[in-house]
Amino acid sequence: MEALLKKISDRGLDAAAATGEDALEFWAHVRTDIATTSREQAQCFIISAEHLSKQLSYSDSIADLNAALSLLNLPQDSELILDIKNSLSDRFFTVGDYSNALTHYVESTNIAVEHSNIDAYATAIIGMGNLCDAYGDHDRALSYYQKIDSIDHALTSRSLRLKYKLFMLACYIQLGRHSVAEALLIECEQLSILVSDKVLSGQVYLYHAMLLRHKGKAQRALDYLANVQYTYGNLHSTWLSNMLRLELAYCLNELGRTHLSNWLLESTEQRVDSGYAPVLGLQLFNSLSTIYEQQQKYQAALLYQQKAYAIESELVSAIPIGELGASQLRRLSRFELQLKLILSEIENRELKETTESQKHTVAQLQQDVFTDPLTLLRNRRWMEVKLKDLLLHETPFSLLVIDIDHFKSINDELSHLVGDKAIIRVSKQLAKHFHFSDASCVRFGGEEFLVILENTDEQQAKMYAEQYRQRIFQFNWKEVLGERGLTVSIGVTKHRDGENTQRTFYRADKALYRAKANGRNQVCLEN
Ligand code: GH3
Ligand code: MG
Ligand code: MG
Repeated sequence: MEALLKKISDRGLDAAAATGEDALEFWAHVRTDIATTSREQAQCFIISAEHLSKQLSYSDSIADLNAALSLLNLPQDSELILDIKNSLSDRFFTVGDYSNALTHYVESTNIAVEHSNIDAYATAIIGMGNLCDAYGDHDRALSYYQKIDSIDHALTSRSLRLKYKLFMLACYIQLGRHSVAEALLIECEQLSILVSDKVLSGQVYLYHAMLLRHKGKAQRALDYLANVQYTYGNLHSTWLSNMLRLELAYCLNELGRTHLSNWLLESTEQRVDSGYAPVLGLQLFNSLSTIYEQQQKYQAALLYQQKAYAIESELVSAIPIGELGASQLRRLSRFELQLKLILSEIENRELKETTESQKHTVAQLQQDVFTDPLTLLRNRRWMEVKLKDLLLHETPFSLLVIDIDHFKSINDELSHLVGDKAIIRVSKQLAKHFHFSDASCVRFGGEEFLVILENTDEQQAKMYAEQYRQRIFQFNWKEVLGERGLTVSIGVTKHRDGENTQRTFYRADKALYRAKANGRNQVCLEN
């Protein structure tokens, strides 16, 4: 993409300036006159498909995505092809062509397994689960989402991890399995702290409120809903904002404020009536029916039940239910084995990979390519080499993941420059605190740091971490930050014999988000 953008700017054109209708013309021009490879032409189609989708021209958008697909080839374009197929299924889902959506999900799982793309594999499975959810079979939907559990640790995207867990959570709530739901909710809440996504955290709030209401705490659920920040705009958040309204209506109704509740329901109905996805309509009419029934307005309840039933029958006949049955799930179980094999091969390769040339690289660790320019700590690239070296020599080590608390607010309130200064101070203190030879300090990215402690068990590591946390808490921040202080949260874990580092990181990450969820400025250990 970068190459294409460069070609565009070399022509004196500004890709960012083309918006709305103009964008379509602009990208058609780029495709025919500027793009030189078929991959670049495909990229033009993908961008114009996005614009078309924003303009709600879904069938044109689908046509452009198909045109992009026809220009690409496996294996070299596997990632792009999987992205396109994902968008295609989304679009087919939106227009109610569930058969085509499923076809692309199925093909995506094939390609994703073939090319070891775990994230794309999980995305396609989520899509299949969504289809089951849409026609109301939450048990089956759950069987799909649960297929991701065994490869959870290998997902590279935290937001994808949160997404599938939220879908599982919704199923548990629908199925009335409240205690399992509560445990999963805690996990989602912790995870959502590390994923800055308003729609996903809005969903966490929604489900929290639902569970409170189911426990008879409608007032607390109501207070809780007042905290939600959400954005309008795309289909998912339209769904979310309407779901939040419905939940609000349930709570108000339970608290005897039927007037307000009914007003909310009616206004939601008006919005949904003006042409939203059938899945949302189904949820709305079911809610309306339940609430009117609770209010003993049986005629209205019956009317909405009929409306819900009409949509449900339509969905049942439009969704290829047969193809989502046991044989599809068995196919995925085979894939699951194949993926586990691939993952363990990657694991083994990582364990054995350190060759002569690698040793040579370790010897060059002082070079600039391994240093973070802002903090002069080691960078991620260095860390990767270092970890391989530790695995090769079977050196035991513990891992600390350190993240500055509420760092965004420092940037926002005091400027990015001050933010940089704070990062530098935190790094200097890190290097001072962990000055001994068995410790390596790494800037992992942004305001996140790692410390590798060789030959150190988890209790010692936790103690060092705790001392460092206090050091930062007590540091004189006045010069840099004026009146406000700064704290860090730390996740600690120990590398287990024979495991790959991805698993170690996964545990450290879990410990970190527990530390954040428990209120920050603390150290948590995950064994
Ligand atoms: P939390 O306590 O949950 O960690 O909250 P947070 O605000 O620290 O977390 P979040 O991950 O939402 O924000 C991190 C911010 O760090 C976002 C990004 O703009 C900022 N950032 C990342 N790298 C740098 C950098 O090099 N310099 C500065 N000044 N800011 C950075
Ligand atoms: Mg942070
Ligand atoms: Mg962070």
